[in-house]
Amino acid sequence: MKKQPMKTSLPAMAIRNAKILLPGGQMVAGGLTVEQGRIARIGQPNRKTPALDVQGAYVIPGLIDLHTHGIGYTSVFSINDTLQSYAEQEAARGTTAFYPSFFGPVEETIGHLNRHLAETDNLRTVPQVVGFRLESPYLARTGAGRSKDLAPISSTTTRRLLRAGGGWIKIWDISPELPGAPAAIRTLCRSGVVCSIAHTQCTVKQAQAAIAAGARLVTHMFDTFVMPIETDPGVYPAGLVDYLLVEDRVACEIIADGTHVPAFHVEKTLRCKPAGGIILVTDSNFGAGLPPGEYDLPQGWGRAKIAGPNNGVRLIDRDMGLAGSALTPIDGFRNMIRMFHKDIAVASRLCSANPARLLGLNKGEIAIGRDADLLVLSPKLDLLYTVVGGKIIFSRQSQD
Ligand SMILES: [Zn+2]
Repeated sequence: MKKQPMKTSLPAMAIRNAKILLPGGQMVAGGLTVEQGRIARIGQPNRKTPALDVQGAYVIPGLIDLHTHGIGYTSVFSINDTLQSYAEQEAARGTTAFYPSFFGPVEETIGHLNRHLAETDNLRTVPQVVGFRLESPYLARTGAGRSKDLAPISSTTTRRLLRAGGGWIKIWDISPELPGAPAAIRTLCRSGVVCSIAHTQCTVKQAQAAIAAGARLVTHMFDTFVMPIETDPGVYPAGLVDYLLVEDRVACEIIADGTHVPAFHVEKTLRCKPAGGIILVTDSNFGAGLPPGEYDLPQGWGRAKIAGPNNGVRLIDRDMGLAGSALTPIDGFRNMIRMFHKDIAVASRLCSANPARLLGLNKGEIAIGRDADLLVLSPKLDLLYTVVGGKIIFSRQSQD
């Protein structure tokens, strides 16, 4: 296995007087101790150990976002933005690990990958960035994108993009109906990339071929999938979404803002998929987390209207169509509880444990030996601290 570069100095820390969410979903009173950036002990630290007293606040695993294009005033599409400023804004919204997700013409994406890897010393300076995602170019339908963002599958293009990613491309979206899709999925899986079924109107048979080749994720389930056509009058048509709901080998992403996916579809997906089979993502864009208003998106994506975290980023010049969401990870987590009526344990599983397991990260749960990526939340679920590898990278007090 390829050795990953060391990304942090590894601090020690301790937390006391917390309510700690354990992997089984139990909430226990106590504390924890971090050594070498990992959780070393669970339980109240002894009195002599200097510790952060959180006065009864919740401590949960940090949130992991597999699908994000931007947040606040930053965007992966802008040549003026750094991953460092992206990561800082993510930290303030509870994200401890994320995959900046590219969508654009091949040459532009290669330029962004080169620039970000050079600026961060191959990601060493941004421990929250655990890899990259390519949503384009291998798509059959553009969604909010443009046709120049798409390209036919070719082994040369795949090789060039993988090389530009320096081993850090970890998720790659593919429409199963494109010529060469199963072979490309097999190649990417061999390179350690998780392939995701995306932006498609493929047949069930084509999806089965993609999954047999190794695809293990579905990109924003329900969004950019087409409704099946009734072929036998009076018979309920069965389509791709119905199949993916009961195909246990693939996990389904859900944009949990209530706009991209109505609440009853979220409930349906929860009832259909196994425990590890749903992952909340934001698909956030420039503007997520900003106050309501009109904003200019970078790199010619046009003017957008933001009307709060749950209403999406809407392109004014393109009939108010959606271009990703205005959701931040902590908003999605809280929506799971307040909008979709699940408990903290379920919300945490969908935002932390499930994405960590799919991507093979040593994160996503509070257990001995796991990376100490944690959030401290008030009883009202306000974010008080974000901790990555045992280091506090966001504190609400320092903002007040
Ligand atoms: Zn996206």
